[in-house]
Amino acid sequence: MKTHNFSAGPCILPDEVFKKASDAILDFDNSLSLIEVSHRSPPFVNVMSKCISLVKELLNIPKGYSVLFLQGGASLQFLMVPFNLMKLNGSAAYLNTGTWSTKAINEAKLFGNTIVVGDSSDKNFNYIPKNYSVPENIDYFHCTSNNTIFGTQIKEFPKISSPIVCDMSSDIFSRKININNFDIIYAGAQKNMGPAGTTMVIVKDETLNKTGRDIPTMLNYQTHIDKESMFNTPPVFSIYVSMLTLEWLKNKGGIDYIEKINNEKANLLYKEIDRNSLFTGTANTEDRSIMNVTFSILEKEKEKIFENECLKNKISGLKGHRSVGGYRASIYNAMPIKSIKTLINVMQKVENL
Ligand SMILES: *Cc1c(COP(=O)(O)O)cnc(C)c1O
Repeated sequence: MKTHNFSAGPCILPDEVFKKASDAILDFDNSLSLIEVSHRSPPFVNVMSKCISLVKELLNIPKGYSVLFLQGGASLQFLMVPFNLMKLNGSAAYLNTGTWSTKAINEAKLFGNTIVVGDSSDKNFNYIPKNYSVPENIDYFHCTSNNTIFGTQIKEFPKISSPIVCDMSSDIFSRKININNFDIIYAGAQKNMGPAGTTMVIVKDETLNKTGRDIPTMLNYQTHIDKESMFNTPPVFSIYVSMLTLEWLKNKGGIDYIEKINNEKANLLYKEIDRNSLFTGTANTEDRSIMNVTFSILEKEKEKIFENECLKNKISGLKGHRSVGGYRASIYNAMPIKSIKTLINVMQKVENL
């Protein structure tokens, strides 16, 4: 039996994706390996366009949006967003819901007036602020849809007239979203889509080129739109494996299907956390993430026992982030329900010891 990988990222991917990815390393096109073939050769250009069209199909992306595959991680988007969207002497509003939001805010401050409209740091980010108001005449509003570290998730996005930018690194392709409500969505591949190395960016074309700033070529979204993500050598492996994962998702039944399964998986685990006298959930109930489930153990003496039992059952990656402590079960799209049942069995066993 393979390890039950509950790691927050790089993430678990479907078995068939691992298999096909390794085949392509040995033979992608006429005995050329995927990682030696020219990115401008028709077989790879085909991979890029297939990957983009799968994204458009799965997320139901309307006309007027571009899908890019860039490098530099989601972390580079923290500064590309203000560079491309914040006007000279402009301002932007941010919702601070965790470590990643905080990093995004710190980059935005380098570009202009950065207004934090809601902030849950007072309770170590265990909830999503509500009833905050976003000033008008801002250049954009930025939020993080799913807080990978703290296990909270935005269930309802604000309805405002300004452009909305969202870091969806850890819940992209996990639930239905209405693309029309967003101007930029970005996501590092390694949380729910593929291996590290590429960041998907979905951008509404008409939002760009309004800042009056000179933007360095590589940091300008327009460069990558014009060159179809081939301005420089793209991360071919990461894009290929992302394409395989999206094909897998499409064959399973797309976002409608996976959202249903994700809700079932999360409900199963949260139900056990709430029932089990040994454990308690970390995040505010109504804001609980369906991707990253954070919890802690109430009897310190049983900590080692629980961790050893996990080890024995090939459960890995459960340790919580150092800023929260406790445990975090990341249950991304490819996580099979049987892995969650294995974890629940261990929790019940240790409770009854
Ligand atoms: C992991 C993560 C990031 C950072 O991604 P990198 O690709 O490592 O830069 C940013 N935002 C969220 C929500 C994440 O989960």
